[in-house]
Amino acid sequence: MMKKTVKDIDIKNRKVIVRCDFNVPQDKNGSITDDIRIRSSLPTIRYLIDHGAKVILMSHLGRPEGEADMKYTLKPVADRLSELLGKSVLFISAPEVVNGKVIKAAEELTSGDVMLLENVRFRREETKNGANFSKELAALAEIFVNDAFGTAHRAHSSTAGIAEYLPAVSGFLIENEVKFLGNAVESPERPFMAILGGAKVGDKIPVIENLMNKVDTFMIGGGMAYTFLKAKGYEIGKSILDKEKVGLAGELMKKAEEKGVKLLLPVDIIAAKEFSNDSERAEFDCGSIPQEWMGLDIGPKTAGLFREEIMKSGTVIWNGPMGVFEMPNYAKGTIKIAEALADSNAVTIIGGGDSAAAVEQFGMAGKMTHISTGGGASLEYLEGRELPGIAVLQDKESCGGDK
Ligand code: AMP
Repeated sequence: MMKKTVKDIDIKNRKVIVRCDFNVPQDKNGSITDDIRIRSSLPTIRYLIDHGAKVILMSHLGRPEGEADMKYTLKPVADRLSELLGKSVLFISAPEVVNGKVIKAAEELTSGDVMLLENVRFRREETKNGANFSKELAALAEIFVNDAFGTAHRAHSSTAGIAEYLPAVSGFLIENEVKFLGNAVESPERPFMAILGGAKVGDKIPVIENLMNKVDTFMIGGGMAYTFLKAKGYEIGKSILDKEKVGLAGELMKKAEEKGVKLLLPVDIIAAKEFSNDSERAEFDCGSIPQEWMGLDIGPKTAGLFREEIMKSGTVIWNGPMGVFEMPNYAKGTIKIAEALADSNAVTIIGGGDSAAAVEQFGMAGKMTHISTGGGASLEYLEGRELPGIAVLQDKESCGGDK
């Protein structure tokens, strides 16, 4: 269902409170090391400024566990945002997030002004979706905009609770995520392929279950592949294994076969004796992995095979690296897959988290159709779950005008 956006309501001279994802990485001194999350929120903020809204921004940063721990203050974000917008962003570092000073400042905003609240996780109620905190936040404004896709899978006061008290619409970042992820899954260009990797099989199994009725092909690499190879009866040596999921992996492979969905596993791997970049290394076919070796990347034959499939696809969704890409000696498989996606004409969607980091690291981000800004959120979206921070937003069809 399409959600209303900031374009669908009248915001002129109105106080608009926006949930952003300013959860940026920082160094020891609190300096921001990567401001992509701040820059991603600029289109919505600029639109609101340009259309005469009084803008109040809020976000979490890190895990201050409900205490006003100044290590997690949003002050550095306010400074960076001021630079990026080329205008001063008012920031009041209130330990309670909302207090008398903040309320007064919000009341005194004029059209086009921007203010940023302190870290919403300074309040214990935030992650519990406490109604009192939702109401305090709502009382500052007349309209709620959610633009934090990265936390949309959490029902917190600032992502979902607040929408009970204000008309709620999406910003451009969430609109984009829903458009790309939603279209890819619901009306894909075919053949439609999902590439899954990474280590946590448990996290990806619900995605496989949901996509089983939608995709034409699954390609499984990374650490999770060994649980599937084990289920096929292969010896996997010391490779990472989720013993409890072997049965389920077997059932999923059977289901895929019954449905005529292709499910491709690695045919060869790069293995090491130790979990270290400099360990002794060797290539093995998947049928002959010796006892004392562990698979840490897909091998060249697998990368070639996966590439061929990618080149034939109309849509590719990718979540999870093909190997331990953080170590250069086991990054090749992940690089090869990223290159194949970059070279293909398919609609390519990178589902956040490690695969997004890998694509950025290899300098291929610009060649993808869409890179999701939310790791956990995009995974839950691909599982077919409704994200609470999106569910609370007004539907396009059902409302004629704003409340
Ligand atoms: P996930 O959070 O499930 O997407 O897993 C991501 C992590 O999986 C990355 O940190 C990778 O280093 C790790 N990984 C990928 N392949 C392997 C493997 N073959 N063995 C162990 N860890 C792996």
